[in-house]
Amino acid sequence: MKNKEVKILLSAPRGFCAGVERAIEIVEKSIQKYGAPVYVRHEIVHNKFVVDDLKKKGAIFVEELDEIQDKSKPVIFSAHGVPKKIPKDAKDYNMTYIDATCPLVSKVHREAENLNRAGYHIILIGHENHPEVIGTMGQLPNGAIELIQDEMEAKNYNNKSNKKIAFVTQTTLSVDDTKDIIQILKNRFKDIHEPKKEDICYATTNRQMAVKNIAKHCDMFFIIGSKNSSNSVRLVEVAKKSGCENSRLIHSESEVPYNEIHNSNTIGISSGASAPEILVNNFIDDLRNRFTIKIDEVEIIKENVVFKIPKKLN
Ligand code: SF4
Repeated sequence: MKNKEVKILLSAPRGFCAGVERAIEIVEKSIQKYGAPVYVRHEIVHNKFVVDDLKKKGAIFVEELDEIQDKSKPVIFSAHGVPKKIPKDAKDYNMTYIDATCPLVSKVHREAENLNRAGYHIILIGHENHPEVIGTMGQLPNGAIELIQDEMEAKNYNNKSNKKIAFVTQTTLSVDDTKDIIQILKNRFKDIHEPKKEDICYATTNRQMAVKNIAKHCDMFFIIGSKNSSNSVRLVEVAKKSGCENSRLIHSESEVPYNEIHNSNTIGISSGASAPEILVNNFIDDLRNRFTIKIDEVEIIKENVVFKIPKKLN
């Protein structure tokens, strides 16, 4: 098998975004400052490798604040953001909290609040039960914001409020699918208010464009990321839609189909915004042990976004 030559098109940018880097740094710095353990509400970012590594360093992950046994220790809110009620509950428990919500998610929260204040009824385009969607909807009183998940829901949507409507979106959606949903809403509601700048974040957009750019040249495409990582799952969809039907998510429990790779000449590799580069390197090392590989990194744009961590951790 080692004689088999496989060309790897390595998509760039890929992997960690600025919001994920910041969230991980917040947990690490909190452990340094307050001592272990620190609590983290929900997976800080959707990646098992990252979560396991932080557990080893002294983080305890919980889903809700009432699970926290020692409330004298600080709690960190994950990068996906939380409903307004959560910091309030932490205050009521007298807990120290540190908010690792990505600034680009917080931006959508503020947008939704401002639109609500300006008298709009708000549509959130996103996926039900994703923590980011729960967090964004939880910025406003019940009924002030409604979820639309796909084109069908956009076609069937009726504004039952007596207000003008506006929309915001989850940050990690498919750029192309979201455009189609927005177009349906715009056709149906001519004066719908839209965000000045897209809510889908730079990292999601760049990773999707980079995959789209190379997918048609690949026989197989592998996205490294966790099953519950929205942006990783979207990358698989983008690769499929852009010409590589045989595209898969490689997560911690996945079996890599090496026998299928044996029948491929060119494979694409990318990784979601919460997947560390070491997982990509490990995968490439595995391929190197089995095949003669040639790597061609195809970068469509350089990223230099950095988000500051909260002052109290400096
Ligand atoms: S994917 Fe985008 S919104 Fe989510 S943490 Fe990264 S930069 Fe922030």
